Amino acid sequence: MIKSFHPPVRTLMGPGPSDVNPRILEALSRPTIGHLDPVFIDMMDEVKSLLQYAFQTENKLTLPVSAPGSAGMETVFTNLLESGDKVIICQNGVFGGRMKENAERCGAQAIMVEDVWGETVDIDKAEQALSENPDAKALAFVHAETSTGARSDAEALCALAQKYDCLSIVDAVTSLGGIELKVDDWGIDAIYSGTQKCLSCVPGLSPVSFSDRAAKVISSRKRKVQSWFLDLNLVMGYWGTEAKRAYHHTAPINSLYALHEALVILQEEGLEQAWQRHALNHQAFAAGIKAMGLGFVVAEDVRLPQLNAVSFPTSINDADVRNALLNEYNLEIGSGLGALAGKVWRIGLMGYASNRTNVLFCLSALANVLAARGMDIDSKGTLAAANTVYNTKA
Ligand SMILES: *Cc1c(COP(=O)(O)O)cnc(C)c1O
Repeated sequence: MIKSFHPPVRTLMGPGPSDVNPRILEALSRPTIGHLDPVFIDMMDEVKSLLQYAFQTENKLTLPVSAPGSAGMETVFTNLLESGDKVIICQNGVFGGRMKENAERCGAQAIMVEDVWGETVDIDKAEQALSENPDAKALAFVHAETSTGARSDAEALCALAQKYDCLSIVDAVTSLGGIELKVDDWGIDAIYSGTQKCLSCVPGLSPVSFSDRAAKVISSRKRKVQSWFLDLNLVMGYWGTEAKRAYHHTAPINSLYALHEALVILQEEGLEQAWQRHALNHQAFAAGIKAMGLGFVVAEDVRLPQLNAVSFPTSINDADVRNALLNEYNLEIGSGLGALAGKVWRIGLMGYASNRTNVLFCLSALANVLAARGMDIDSKGTLAAANTVYNTKA
């Protein structure tokens, strides 16, 4: 007979999911109630206003899509684009490529602006594409490229989109809660995120937000959105502001308790404090990595604190090290993707996992595993370098 499943307790320091705060797991286990229960609807309103805080927006069209980050991406593209539209997509990693897939499946034409993986999106190249394509409807890019650990200048790119009278589409799956992100100040028109990265919630929901300008594009479409489930014109009947909420689909009730708790935790800490915490833990981690003799793929000024792409000597076997960390230390880190496969580890310091204990644990586990494989590692110096950052900056 198959028995109940009891997962091992791991420390999650990969590209997501990140460690889930126990408060969130407890919230998840509270009693399930009806998704049209007035008490539940009040909680949905709180989730909306907490998301407005997290996104720094007053956008009325702000809600969690009932599916993971990829569904948030699909929601944005399918609702904003119609067949025959043109969209400029800046790609500097895996997720820009998925934007292209989405745009083309909407029947839109994707004009790709390619940048080297590990580098930030080039503003001048984006501007050139905008000036060469005055009929483009939107400019899309990934704020925090989880496949490489590079941050792009969302503020500058959105200002460009406005200058050329384009909608801006921003992938903030890994940035929300981890680095500065200001939807209204930066003039972002459409943004999507995920729950399992810097919000440290369970996977399966995708917060999205649309400016009034973008909302108008959605409500005045020529043709219906091809996805019934993701059509915001319909979803709004359930998540909308009208007094009477109509059934569209059964909301993932307990997952929404979890998101509510995750956002309450973020609000208690304060957004800016959360950004500072991510920055500090990254600095300590980076000091340790350097002391270990390992390198970073991304230049310091555009490096994401929550996703560290660490390069290692070719003599080291990527999978062997990751397996040792998982089996001997219950520690999960990520592998490289695409062009970076086998050449880097992606080490996440996201949300609840971005803390001093995890930084020191990961550095010492990695130092031990690499030393056991013959690398000349200064374990003591590694931890000392990280601790020095905490002792001088904390
Ligand atoms: C994780 C991620 C996604 C996809 O989110 P899922 O929840 O895995 O569907 C999209 N974009 C970026 C930048 C991501 O890091």
